[in-house]
Amino acid sequence: MSVSEAAAPHAPYASYAQQFDVLRRQDPELAEVVLGETRRQADSLQLTAAENFASPAVLAALGSPLANKYAEGYPGARHHGGCELVDAAERIAVERAKALFGAGHANVQPHSGSAAVLAAYAALLRPGDTVLAMGLNHGGHLTHGSPANFSGRWFDFVGYGVDPATGLIDYAQVRELARRHSPKALVCGSISYPRHIDYAAFRDIADEAGAYLIADAAHPIGLVAGGAAPNPVPYADVVCATTHKVLRGPRGGMILCGPEYAERVDRAVFPFTQGGAQMHTIAAKAVGFGEAATPAFTAYAHQVVANAQVLAHALAAEGFPVTTGGTDTHLIVADPAPFGVDGRTARGRLAAAGLVLDLCGLPDAESRGIRLGTAAVTTQGMGESEMGRIAGLFTAALRSEGGKIHGVRAEVAELAGTFSSGR
Ligand SMILES: *Cc1c(COP(=O)(O)O)cnc(C)c1O
Repeated sequence: MSVSEAAAPHAPYASYAQQFDVLRRQDPELAEVVLGETRRQADSLQLTAAENFASPAVLAALGSPLANKYAEGYPGARHHGGCELVDAAERIAVERAKALFGAGHANVQPHSGSAAVLAAYAALLRPGDTVLAMGLNHGGHLTHGSPANFSGRWFDFVGYGVDPATGLIDYAQVRELARRHSPKALVCGSISYPRHIDYAAFRDIADEAGAYLIADAAHPIGLVAGGAAPNPVPYADVVCATTHKVLRGPRGGMILCGPEYAERVDRAVFPFTQGGAQMHTIAAKAVGFGEAATPAFTAYAHQVVANAQVLAHALAAEGFPVTTGGTDTHLIVADPAPFGVDGRTARGRLAAAGLVLDLCGLPDAESRGIRLGTAAVTTQGMGESEMGRIAGLFTAALRSEGGKIHGVRAEVAELAGTFSSGR
């Protein structure tokens, strides 16, 4: 398979049965769990907005002997011996990330998106500093000031929100809060905001306040790679991201910045917040970046958005209010209240029908909604016509209690199976 074929829609795990044989022979108990999960992913619909199906090449790099190698430090400056080849892997990953996003510097070592945010704060802030970020009940991530997270414990977070009438970020409020609180950093990025972020507006507000601008682009970074969303790199001082959401690489994080922050960012990742780099994951990130640089991935990213727009429209037509009235991205947040259920009940009924997604806060509401995304189903090759079908399945699942859900479940399995079995 060529790299552009890998970036095209693929049937996840169609070729993986043999690879599990080794595991099955040695450890049937664990192999049963892995195979069960593989089947679950193949016969239900993965609409969790943060998930995707990594390619067989990404999984091959993850499962490679690079997992055995200790490599504290950076290429050419490691604490451990024998790092020449993993150094080559990391240099490839860094160069591909820089080229893909037009960044002066890339650090590909963060173990996760949260680890990338932790390192960005460590690079730019001191404990006790004031940080302005999206409020958690409006779509901020745990690392944007949750009292249960290091961020809320070590920094003084102020939250901005969305306009209750439109669901759009209230940029006037962001500016007002920045003037009032003089934050050391302004964070833009969200777990659920379905619209493009105006990075130029955030830059302008940060400049006026004398604040650093940190973009947490964990969700849209894959769309950025495919040219389907604006790139925060030219605007933000530091960009944090994940590599496993729309970007479709291995589970992990990265940081992009200009050369002026390179040394601070690198030291904040290692040795300040992490130890040895995970070289198998870094190699898999390089493979993922290679796939994301192909025309097939550009087409994929645009299809992800087109699918989300069709699905948002179809859900609205089925009677679900959708925040902001639609989406510019892979993300949709919908309120199941018109079906007489709260988010938790909706998630449960949808899951029983094989429609897998998350709960999500609704701005300023007591009740919770559901959050879904089109990254994974688009990887499987689904298009606009399948999105219309999925919206109909949502309504059928929410309306059916008890026994009737089996019919919906069977239809979901049939649809998922068509796109999972390899064509
Ligand atoms: C997903 C996400 C993260 C965290 O990523 P993990 O890899 O789960 O730690 C951070 N910030 C935002 C905005 C996210 O969406």
